[in-house]
Amino acid sequence: MFNTIKKLIDKLLNLGFADDFGNDLNQKHVVSFSYLAFCSGCLIVLFLFVFFQMFFLASFSFVCLSLGLLGWRYSYSGYYERAQVLMPIVSSVQVFVLSFFYFGDSSDFHWLFVNVLIYGVIVFRADQRFIKHSVVISSVVLFLICEFLTIEGLHITAESQNVVAVTVFLFVSFYVAVVINLVISRLKSVNSHLRTLAEMDELTGLSNRRKVLADAVNIFADSVINGLSCVFAIIDLDHFKKINDTYGHEAGDLALSQIAKVMSSAIRPQDEIGRYGGEEFIVIMRDINLNQAEVVVENIRKSVEEMLVETEQGVVIPVTISAGLAAITPDVSRYEEILAQADKGLYSAKRNGRNRIFIQSEY
Ligand code: GH3
Ligand code: MG
Ligand code: MG
Repeated sequence: MFNTIKKLIDKLLNLGFADDFGNDLNQKHVVSFSYLAFCSGCLIVLFLFVFFQMFFLASFSFVCLSLGLLGWRYSYSGYYERAQVLMPIVSSVQVFVLSFFYFGDSSDFHWLFVNVLIYGVIVFRADQRFIKHSVVISSVVLFLICEFLTIEGLHITAESQNVVAVTVFLFVSFYVAVVINLVISRLKSVNSHLRTLAEMDELTGLSNRRKVLADAVNIFADSVINGLSCVFAIIDLDHFKKINDTYGHEAGDLALSQIAKVMSSAIRPQDEIGRYGGEEFIVIMRDINLNQAEVVVENIRKSVEEMLVETEQGVVIPVTISAGLAAITPDVSRYEEILAQADKGLYSAKRNGRNRIFIQSEY
């Protein structure tokens, strides 16, 4: 039940925009949530006024609700900036009018200006400074007017004013809690998106050099601590310069990205693969001996040899790889030493005719 409501609210907040990661941290979810809260509030007071037969205030609430729905529609139909600006205007007018003409200052209804102020601080970007400051200043000024003009509640008893004050307190707390939560989860998702970008090679979608070397350090350390064997392989595409020269750089890029896909589906789930640079890749295989690793890398080699790289013009480019393998031995103290051995193996594979793998086992 609770989960269904949460999913429904998430759906409402996400209406109209895919989760983009633009530079501006404009809080679209906060805008949507503010409209959701505002429209629900309008609906409640509308029913109340109709129930108490206060048709002037009911009509006023109906107008506010319509404007709220209009703003919400703006926000999910692409007029995001209009939605951003309409929200504080319509909610300030609503709080001010209802506080002034109906609830009175001892109901604390005007504390809802806190929501407007928080909205102003969070929602507007640095380049919207003017509107941001206007919203913040006007919400403070309107709050002070309501607070110090000691307006009598026109239509409600002191007891009802207490009920309103408690409701307002709960509503403001709820709003602040949700907005903080939205901002934090937005920052978290942007953060993890940036981390993915920082660790990913754009062309192939594999881990980039920084990430695969960090994996190498961790897996090497783990293997040494746990006394497990681990094998590194360096893979290099054969005659790749010729592929570029013959079919063009674009076809070279296509070959690189397709080979990367084939290679990453040929490794075991527990292995790591990344682009070391240019047309070179590293595969890190944990808890494995050299013979087993040979089977894994031989499988990669065969898969690449058998694949078809086809350009947009329908030209098929033959591709092969060579690889050098090396494993942890008791006298190795740094992962760079295994990498250097694997590189030596790669050199031997190239020298012996390419499209083959070479195990570098003598240190
Ligand atoms: P070998 O079999 O000895 O490895 O020969 P090779 O031609 O593959 O090796 P070489 O180091 O001479 O050339 C590597 C080429 O890879 C040169 C470079 O232009 C190309 N290359 C490196 N990165 C990219 C890339 O991102 N895209 C494309 N299209 N080419 C790249
Ligand atoms: Mg190379
Ligand atoms: Mg090469």
